Amino acid sequence: MKGNANLYALLAGGFPADRSQAAIVCPDKEYSWNDIDAISAGFANLLQSLDLPLGSRVAVQTEKSPQALMLYLACLRTGLVYLPLNTAYRAAEVEYFLSDAEPAVVVCDSSNLDWIQALADNTGASHVYTLDEDGTGSVCSAAAAHSTTFQTVTSQSDDLAAILYTSGTTGRSKGAMLSHANLGANAQALKSYWGWRSDDVLLHMLPIFHVHGLFVASHGALLAGAKMIWLPRFNVDQALAYLPQSTIMMGVPTYYVRLLADARFTRDLCSTMRLFISGSAPLLMETFDGFQARTGMTILERYGMSETNMLTSNPYDSSLGERIGGTVGQPLPGVSVRVVDDQDQILPVAQVGNVQVRGPNVFAGYWRMPEKTREEFTSDGWFRTGDVGQFGGPAIPDNYLSIVGRSKDLIISGGFNVYPKEIELVIDAMPGVHESAVIGVPHPDFGEAVVAVVVPKEGQELNSDQILATLKTSLANFKVPKKIHIAAELPRNTMGKVQKNILRQNY
Ligand code: AMP
Repeated sequence: MKGNANLYALLAGGFPADRSQAAIVCPDKEYSWNDIDAISAGFANLLQSLDLPLGSRVAVQTEKSPQALMLYLACLRTGLVYLPLNTAYRAAEVEYFLSDAEPAVVVCDSSNLDWIQALADNTGASHVYTLDEDGTGSVCSAAAAHSTTFQTVTSQSDDLAAILYTSGTTGRSKGAMLSHANLGANAQALKSYWGWRSDDVLLHMLPIFHVHGLFVASHGALLAGAKMIWLPRFNVDQALAYLPQSTIMMGVPTYYVRLLADARFTRDLCSTMRLFISGSAPLLMETFDGFQARTGMTILERYGMSETNMLTSNPYDSSLGERIGGTVGQPLPGVSVRVVDDQDQILPVAQVGNVQVRGPNVFAGYWRMPEKTREEFTSDGWFRTGDVGQFGGPAIPDNYLSIVGRSKDLIISGGFNVYPKEIELVIDAMPGVHESAVIGVPHPDFGEAVVAVVVPKEGQELNSDQILATLKTSLANFKVPKKIHIAAELPRNTMGKVQKNILRQNY
């Protein structure tokens, strides 16, 4: 192909003409666009000096810092493959990732150096560096010896930019291989769909080991030449302090729940904001409505995954439709989404089925898992997302998708399909209920039995018999849980996803 498909080249094309302006603002320090270019160039020169074959992997398990973002950009610039690892992973998990991906370079927090060095030695990673949350570490001192200018390499569209390991709640975690073109296509689609502007200020509080914070948020701001307020993690006090200087916030639903739980979060505080975006896990109707009532603004919910980046979004531009709570909106420009039955036949609107997708954003396959990759794509190239959903439905336009759950969370009880979300919605609407999760557990008669775990609103008591009695009046018998457990909270991972595997173990 002609030209350079390198993602850094694309992003840098969006940097503002005046590169001395602030690009990344941390509570204690600012970085300009020139700094992004120079610091990533230093890392890129260091990586290039290691003389690694193109496509070598650079595994990074560090806390969030501007330097960590610039290290990612350096990998793009040199044609190396960035492999971010969740900071929560412990030795046994990291060992699996290092032995599976065989990175040539590993960068870790200095507090983990001992055990990571040992793992790296065992898995053949010849270069180990440190990088800490304060932006210092051996990778920075090594880069300091190098030039701060770097000619970004020329990449082909299908050259790998990153490998993201899926959370692997069932079975082995799989490495989703994302190309420069996959990531570039999505960044461009979102830039226009969400109306990114160079005078936007993104409140960035998400982790950067995941598609949401690393790609959706950072690419959006970089490509628009927009400033980021860069915080190491979500913290209500800091969010409240920085919202009045921001125009866009991205978060997982938990962030919005926590903001609403704080009386200091008011409409006045949002006067400069133009867009609140939620994703990575379903946003409860209660949060969607509560947010509207408190701020007068409507959260925009979108849907995507590691393998595909973003797939659908509620509209930003009201001429495309309104933002509808409980839905994940419309397929993004260039992305095709279909809902099919188990034989891959397209279902009519309002019918629940498997969500399949196609588009320039969809990954090339799973790292060193050709068999798994073949299974997850149809013969005509649609990716099986593993999500269950429907287009349209009562009072919902036909082009809006709603996600009902993961296909592996589908419960088959006495031969009947039970979609957890349907029951969760009924329970969530009951007075005194904060939220709920419905799971299937092994049952001698039914194969699986429906079980609900219900969390009361703060200060409220719930009666499981009463919940059961109400469910019996509104649901077919086979959907009514055999047991209701009341719990103080639901187990969630860092991206706000309810960990149903843990619930299935515990109940
Ligand atoms: P990950 O690869 O970690 O980003 O997880 C992707 C999965 O998160 C998707 O396949 C969905 O199951 C779920 N997900 C992401 N966004 C949403 C959303 N807005 N509503 C419901 N589920 C979502």
